[in-house]
Amino acid sequence: MPGGDPRDGGVLGVDVGGTKVALRAEAPGRPTYDRTFHWPREADLATDLATLAAEVTRLRDGWGPVAAVGVAMPATTDPAGTVTTWPNRPGWTGLDLTGELRRLFPGAATAVADDGDLAALAEARHVGCDDVVYLGVGTGIGGGVVWEGRSVPGRSSAEIGHMVVALDGERCDCGRRGCLQAIASGPATLRRAGIARGVAVSFDDLRAGLRDGLPWAVEAVHATCTALAAAVVSLGELLAPTVVIVGGGFAGGLPGLVPLVGHTARMSARPGRPVPVVTAAALGGLSSLHGALWLAHDLTGGPGLRR
Ligand SMILES: [Zn+2]
Repeated sequence: MPGGDPRDGGVLGVDVGGTKVALRAEAPGRPTYDRTFHWPREADLATDLATLAAEVTRLRDGWGPVAAVGVAMPATTDPAGTVTTWPNRPGWTGLDLTGELRRLFPGAATAVADDGDLAALAEARHVGCDDVVYLGVGTGIGGGVVWEGRSVPGRSSAEIGHMVVALDGERCDCGRRGCLQAIASGPATLRRAGIARGVAVSFDDLRAGLRDGLPWAVEAVHATCTALAAAVVSLGELLAPTVVIVGGGFAGGLPGLVPLVGHTARMSARPGRPVPVVTAAALGGLSSLHGALWLAHDLTGGPGLRR
């Protein structure tokens, strides 16, 4: 076996993105392996896979073998692990990802999961909480549900961004009106602020406007927080998570957003049913990578939160 016996124990997390890929490998007695590489520009599937194979060889030769691999994917995959859609790299459509991972890591246990689900798992385990919903607010809204310490619903992703919070709301990319991400994503918030201001609004403009209390900024962010709070309240009724963790680049960059979501949600509590606590995510851009590592750890029967 190249690089040694995979039973020697390393675990590898892979966070696959549309433009770049992050890898982290850990093993007792070995330094952590951290590496990020970019996909070749305008490459086809064969070139992407050759790039990935070269990175796996680099890891094995330079660091050592891995016994388990967890992969966080932004693409939609079917239960067998075949890529069904990935707008960022359309050439991957139809790829048998499970089979490809077996070829790349012979003898190792491998698993693929949605990056939002894995971000949720990582945030939940970071705070040591078993029942968590995670909302990642960025270009879109992703997220996941962790229940009794495990990802729900397992392999198929929780489409939190397409949860409807206002049927007469703004139109979503999916064609429907009122999806959470059509109202509360970064671009949706900036668009609303731009309409109110009468000129296009950048993220930095919004931050400055919010800091200075300008109505076009304050009102745009309030509408976003109201939609997120509606989601929190409804998720509380359905799942009663202990905590709803709000992360993502857009939410993380606006101080005050997460507390306002929590406050707005609490205002909608009803007797006998407290709304979940809302807290800010802790792992930032590393949440999916950490989740992929947990997935790998779980494959080895390593120490999970519940054990
Ligand atoms: Zn939608």
